[in-house]
Amino acid sequence: MPDKHNADRRAFLRRASAAVAAIPVVSLMGTQSVHAADEKAEDGHAHDYVNDAADAADHPQFQEGARCDNCAFWNANVDAPEGWGGCFHQDFQNVLVNEAGWCDAHVMS
Ligand code: SF4
Repeated sequence: MPDKHNADRRAFLRRASAAVAAIPVVSLMGTQSVHAADEKAEDGHAHDYVNDAADAADHPQFQEGARCDNCAFWNANVDAPEGWGGCFHQDFQNVLVNEAGWCDAHVMS
């Protein structure tokens, strides 16, 4: 019984650590210079990014319903064409990502 308790506790601590780690990354990256004129990310830009999350349905890390506009890295406060926005992730600096896009760095918000 103590082994099960310890395993549950370890699993909880792993999840809590991951959640806490994700928050400062997003909040510290609150400023970036993405503009409407910036390049739109192409499929394969980084982290297996695709402009249409449906194209990632077979990806082992894809979670049903995940897309850029429900990701913790999504930045809607960007002067961008309809359907496009910014991404606070360091590998997507200065490019626009599609609201219906997805990459394997997705964090559900
Ligand atoms: S980190 Fe999130 S918002 Fe950025 S490209 Fe990946 S899924 Fe989209």
